Amino acid sequence: MSDSSYNPYTMAQKQFDNAAELLDLDQATRDFLRVPMREYQFSIPVRMDDGSIKVFRGFRVQHNDARGPSKGGIRFHPQETINTVRALSMWMTWKCAVVDIPLGGGKGGVICDPHNLSLNEQERLCRGWVRCLAKNVGPLSDVPAPDVMTNSQHMLWMLDEYETIHGGKYPGFITGKPVGMGGSLGRTEATGYGVMITVREAMKELGIDIQKTTASFQGFGNVSQYAIELYQQMGGTPICVSCWIQKEGKAYSFVKKDGFDLERLREITNHFGEIDKEKAQDQGFEVLDSGAWLEQDVDLLVPAALENQITGESVPRISKQVKIIAEGANGPTTPEADEVIKERGILVIPDFLANAGGVTCSYFEQVQSNQNYFWAKEEILGKLDLKMTDAYLAVSKFAKTNKIYMRDAAYMISVERVSKACQARGWV
Ligand code: NAD
Repeated sequence: MSDSSYNPYTMAQKQFDNAAELLDLDQATRDFLRVPMREYQFSIPVRMDDGSIKVFRGFRVQHNDARGPSKGGIRFHPQETINTVRALSMWMTWKCAVVDIPLGGGKGGVICDPHNLSLNEQERLCRGWVRCLAKNVGPLSDVPAPDVMTNSQHMLWMLDEYETIHGGKYPGFITGKPVGMGGSLGRTEATGYGVMITVREAMKELGIDIQKTTASFQGFGNVSQYAIELYQQMGGTPICVSCWIQKEGKAYSFVKKDGFDLERLREITNHFGEIDKEKAQDQGFEVLDSGAWLEQDVDLLVPAALENQITGESVPRISKQVKIIAEGANGPTTPEADEVIKERGILVIPDFLANAGGVTCSYFEQVQSNQNYFWAKEEILGKLDLKMTDAYLAVSKFAKTNKIYMRDAAYMISVERVSKACQARGWV
């Protein structure tokens, strides 16, 4: 979070209120959907390697499960807050609905810094998280996944604890497991590829030849790297990425106006998505300030780092050449910036549509795990393409037919689907 006054939950509720207004939703459905159905806040005592006990604060929020089990990641972060988890759980509900998968929205977290925990301590923390929630999560009720600073190993420890408690094999309890241990092929690529599938469709609609386009990306982690990979395969030219440099405590943009070589850049990037600044200069990159990624003269901008990046303050820096913003990150654009982008007529592919490839593939993982039969990678990526293309086209058609902003269209489709499910169940 770059600004301590920024509250993602307030932003998520504001976006929901706007959709509710556009849909003319009845009061009970509004009251029901603008807050989570259930929240768990709990203490996890963990025995540290030195024998002492440290107590960590954990969260799980289940925003809505009318369309299926709640789905969403677990974040390990020192600045984790219940409001961040609430907002993200709400966005998960809309995300699963927009790609029309039978899952609801959830999110979890623990206030901790894994950099300061040994692997044994992290294992005990993962097992402790599951012990606190073993009765409230599961393949038929709430399916967690990795998120910020959690990975496939954490998921496997959590699965093992869950199976130990419940006495059986429940591989559909959690996704993001290692391939070969219940994980799905294609999950690593899914979010970034999904972003670019929506961009491909948007460019087709706008009559833009992708091969003649340039793009700038914020972040060089999982989402950004695979988005760039597919973009290049389709003939696009990436000219800028940015990333966080831990030892300097700030971010930089790396620009190469005639396009860069993704594989060479990956070679000088660590697994946190941090590029070696000096080696990048050796590769011919210009190293500029953190905001420079936003002001490049490109056709496509892909914020794929973190929330609250395109704000009322930074939005004027966007170049006149930009035609599409595809939001790889969750919540990168504030409602204030949205107003300016709307006026300028830039096509926004909103976060919960653009980055839904990840959860779509997690859903495929859950299906494969539950049936204990795993598909080939081509089959998974093919299914991903179909889902993302269908979702993009449905949102775009709705936006055009009703002459509304893409984010509003995506929200209206999702909120309507979830409202209908709640109403059909007789909840509201
Ligand atoms: P990641 O940790 O792999 O990479 C994050 C990248 O952002 C790194 O390159 C990091 O250096 C950079 N970064 C951090 N702070 C920055 C700053 N201030 N300025 C510029 N760059 C900065 O993360 P990821 O998995 O690629 O996720 C990125 C975003 O996408 C997050 O908002 C995440 O919630 C969202 N997302 C991820 C997935 C997924 O499947 N990984 C799915 C949906 C949404």
